[in-house]
Amino acid sequence: MRIAVIGGGISGLVAAYRLRMLLGAAADILVLDRAERVGGILYTAELAGEPLDLGAEAFVGRRPEVPQLLREVGLETQLVTPAGLRPLVWSDGVAHPLPERTLMGVPSTAESMRGLVDAATLERIATEPRRPLAWEPGADIDVYRLVADRFGAQVAERSVDPLLGGVYAGSSRSIGVRAALPTLAAALDDGAPSLTHAVAVALPPPSDAPVFGGIRDGYQVLLEALAARSGAKFITAEPATRLARGQRGWVVDPIGAVDSVVLATPAPVTARLLGTVAPDAAAALAGIELSSSVLVALALPRDTALPQNSGILVATGEPLRAKAFTLSSRKWTHLAHRETAAVRVSFGKFGDATPLSWSDADLVTAAAEDLSTVTGVPIEPLAAAVQRWPNGLAQYAPGHTDRIAAVESAIAPIPGLALAGAYLHGVGVPACVASGTAAAHHIAATST
Ligand SMILES: Cc1cc2nc3c(=O)[nH]c(=O)nc-3n(C[C@H](O)[C@H](O)[C@H](O)COP(=O)(O)OP(=O)(O)OC[C@H]3O[C@@H](n4cnc5c(N)ncnc54)[C@H](O)[C@@H]3O)c2cc1C
Repeated sequence: MRIAVIGGGISGLVAAYRLRMLLGAAADILVLDRAERVGGILYTAELAGEPLDLGAEAFVGRRPEVPQLLREVGLETQLVTPAGLRPLVWSDGVAHPLPERTLMGVPSTAESMRGLVDAATLERIATEPRRPLAWEPGADIDVYRLVADRFGAQVAERSVDPLLGGVYAGSSRSIGVRAALPTLAAALDDGAPSLTHAVAVALPPPSDAPVFGGIRDGYQVLLEALAARSGAKFITAEPATRLARGQRGWVVDPIGAVDSVVLATPAPVTARLLGTVAPDAAAALAGIELSSSVLVALALPRDTALPQNSGILVATGEPLRAKAFTLSSRKWTHLAHRETAAVRVSFGKFGDATPLSWSDADLVTAAAEDLSTVTGVPIEPLAAAVQRWPNGLAQYAPGHTDRIAAVESAIAPIPGLALAGAYLHGVGVPACVASGTAAAHHIAATST
């Protein structure tokens, strides 16, 4: 058995590792990546001599995939949880506490929005259950249309956008309700009489369990463990340029004949590779748009008087260049004792990729100035690291779940072919781990 995994991000690495576990030592597994290193958007760099993640830095800890994977590869002692501080939202030139008990920023009560939105908006939220709601079961619209219509634009821009910006580098206007808020869509489908009611039904019960988890020495340790345990041959700095059916399975340029293929590349690349093999699926995938972002990590003097919060999210329309600040040394206890304080500053959002073209020096200056604005503290970086993520995050636009269902049913009957990646069933690392796992199981089940 010769299997090619195209794309060595977390989705592809998990697929390669699982294929080894399922197929044993005899399988010949190749991982091909166009970049010089594997890991894709998971990238641990050095800041002031210490490891720091410049792509993903956390994962949803209430999902089981990442903790389970860490245990499997012997890295359970690397699992860390946040210190428990709350983030702030920067809106109208003021830092507000992030509202509690919301569903991705969509409130369950007007009270939770007090201070963040004006009196008219509070009234609108409070009276929402009295206005008739028209929702067609199975429908999908962008989150802005739903939330702004029912609760007012300020709720969408000040409460929902900062959170959706953190997940998708998008906004309520670029993301569909069904993909981003599946439990809310289900409550609406079930006939909830108001958005307030639907949020109340969809909210998970209150829990003290940490929402997020992280990896003490950065994602690099997981990437290395997966690469080593996959026993795969890695070919880097080499893009896959063509996929075609071959005599015994597939032909992948430039690696040649293989029995099976896992495509773990971003949606536009997957669309190109599927062009002749599955044209309908390719056309559907080509319609997925992506956002670009830039991450600037700053090392600050340890005694910089940063607020006692995990981060500061920025509402839509604020005159800042940065979109979010993670106060990493406050957020994570394991980073608190380092010699310098670490802050991650994010730039760029769907529809605004201009920060990609700014110089490193300009990005670091903008990061320090904007951080100083939102904290009121003079910021003097001792060191900085800049990482650009062009087309890093798929936008789950309205209709995304139907689009993916159509793609998956077109691919499923094709022997020896599976898809994995962040554009399928969630952009977060746990969803990527699940998609790599599912792809490996599909290949193993259909190849023996
Ligand atoms: C700045 C940022 C912060 C994030 N933070 C978090 C977070 O805190 N928590 C979380 O859960 N998620 C986070 N995410 C999302 C998450 O990191 C990604 O969705 C996930 O890592 C994507 O993994 P992937 O393997 O599907 O894709 P990628 O990591 O994009 O990997 C795809 C791989 O395919 C390769 N490739 C592309 N074209 C070709 C080709 N033609 N031939 C061969 N190889 C090719 C690429 O080089 C790449 O290595 C963040 C994303 C970004 C951009």
